[in-house]
Amino acid sequence: MGWLGIDDTDHINGGCTTHTLYQLISNLPPQFTYQNPRLVRLWPYAAQRTRGNAAVAIEIITDDNEEELIQFLEDWWNKKILPLKDNISTSKDYQRKQYPTDPGMVWFNRQPKDDFYWSAVTKEVNKQEVPKADFSWGGHGVIGASAAVIWPGLNHTFEAISWRTSESITGRKKRKIDMSALAVVDNDPETFMSRDIRSNNILIAPRGNCPVLFGIRAKTMAAAEKNCQLLLDAANTEQAEGHIVFRTNQATDDHLSDDKTDVVTKTSILKRGTVVIETNNNGKLLAFAESGKIKHLSQWLEKGDKIEFNGLKSPDGSIHLEKIRVLIATPKRKRPLCHDCQVTMKSMGKNQPVRCPKCRRISQTLWLEIERIPPSKDWLQPPIDARRHLSKPLDWN
Ligand SMILES: [Zn+2]
Repeated sequence: MGWLGIDDTDHINGGCTTHTLYQLISNLPPQFTYQNPRLVRLWPYAAQRTRGNAAVAIEIITDDNEEELIQFLEDWWNKKILPLKDNISTSKDYQRKQYPTDPGMVWFNRQPKDDFYWSAVTKEVNKQEVPKADFSWGGHGVIGASAAVIWPGLNHTFEAISWRTSESITGRKKRKIDMSALAVVDNDPETFMSRDIRSNNILIAPRGNCPVLFGIRAKTMAAAEKNCQLLLDAANTEQAEGHIVFRTNQATDDHLSDDKTDVVTKTSILKRGTVVIETNNNGKLLAFAESGKIKHLSQWLEKGDKIEFNGLKSPDGSIHLEKIRVLIATPKRKRPLCHDCQVTMKSMGKNQPVRCPKCRRISQTLWLEIERIPPSKDWLQPPIDARRHLSKPLDWN
């Protein structure tokens, strides 16, 4: 028995690491069986991350045939996975710097007890930090492959992934998913993030030339399996090659540390409404144009407001907000009006009383405080189509 991990086989123009794993286990010699497939998302800022930054792992039952399995893996690696190396995107509309694929595969006789997963989901890690596998193939991908094996998996959700047939992929046929069945799937309270009701965007299917037909995210394995089958059986869904239910770290918030509180010192609004919030102790926080209610609240914030928030520190040091709420809204200050003239009193100088410019009446009330009501006092999160795979929906807490 042992664990197989794979990563870094997909790129912008095609391929998907989940499909690489599916093809491998579909071709396992019959004496081997498998269990516990898992799909693990890693630190979203990793420089060489793949499109979805997901790695996969699976437990394979070998009995006493480990040597035979290793021979099969070695052959499969050379024939099917190694040729995927050095694929690189040619898409001009993709902004992030692309690295050539550098697949990795690992085999661990037993799952290591190690903190490596926590490093790989919260920060940049390099190959030297990867715990030594019993067998290891390839390059940069061994990082994610090992993290997927080592993931403790206690805090988890599930995703049923189905793949398209090779004719649909090579023929670049338009993806066909039965929309009325999808509505049923989306209404099941055990599934999540299937469809964005706001925009009616389908969130279960990738765009472009990806072998994945769809992925159904669910809180339980049974709900993932049932809804995947429902969608596959529906009249207007295309023929699939197969499907697997993965245990995953999606919607767990594993990438985040504890919530932080701070006081706003300044805000500035950039193009498209992105907001930079400067704080006393946590530097700059960024609320992106796509972040919906987070952006709107951030535009409303003023110096002195006390906020609670969470997000990841990006490589430039700013924290990209994933949730925020207002704890204390600092009141607006206004000079009082003169009782007689209804004219705004004016300051007579620092620490001096205020005076009516018309009748010269003097007042010791220097300021009136006016309460500011935030657009929301609850925790806010970006809309689901702008949220990270790792982010836990607020209403689950
Ligand atoms: Zn007056």
